[in-house]
Amino acid sequence: MHIGIDFDNTVVSYDALFHRVALEQALIPPDLPANKVAVRDQLRANGLEETWIEMQGYVYGARMDEAAIYPGFVEFLLWARSAGHAASIVSHKTRHPFAGPQYDLHAAARAWIDTHLRHERRHLFAQGSIFFELTKEEKLARIEAIGCDAFIDDLPEILLADAMPPRIRKLLFDPDANHAPADHADLVPVICWADVRNALDA
Ligand SMILES: [Mg+2]
Repeated sequence: MHIGIDFDNTVVSYDALFHRVALEQALIPPDLPANKVAVRDQLRANGLEETWIEMQGYVYGARMDEAAIYPGFVEFLLWARSAGHAASIVSHKTRHPFAGPQYDLHAAARAWIDTHLRHERRHLFAQGSIFFELTKEEKLARIEAIGCDAFIDDLPEILLADAMPPRIRKLLFDPDANHAPADHADLVPVICWADVRNALDA
């Protein structure tokens, strides 16, 4: 089986990092939950949409190295390898932020992978199995082109897109239960990487 995996908010968790940066900039009360969506909603409620947009560039660019890996992801990859499955990362993000300093977001993401996705110092992904595309359409085309049999993503609109091949098993990574399962009958809901393994191992 070839397992395709999204990157942002699926492999990488930004919750603690957005909370930290917003606290540093004195933009949120200290007791706000350490959650990206909570930080976004607080900034928007205070009329700080522009600040939120710039903060994303800063976090995904300058502070990327501090982002966390979701618990269980390395163990999941080791299981996939031992079971004979291939795994690829297929993500889409703009090359540069929408506002603020022009960080290279692809380079920051690849540097994060280089540092964090290792086991016993060795890379968990080969260079040719990591794809950062510029648009959602290119991401979907890549998923098709490399022949994924399953795809894990935190965004229903990717999994449910018309260009997503019907034969692919679609797992919705939803650790904070942002989506009601009944809304997406074609999707397998998972809340952690152990769940992903159980779903694919069944
Ligand atoms: Mg994502």
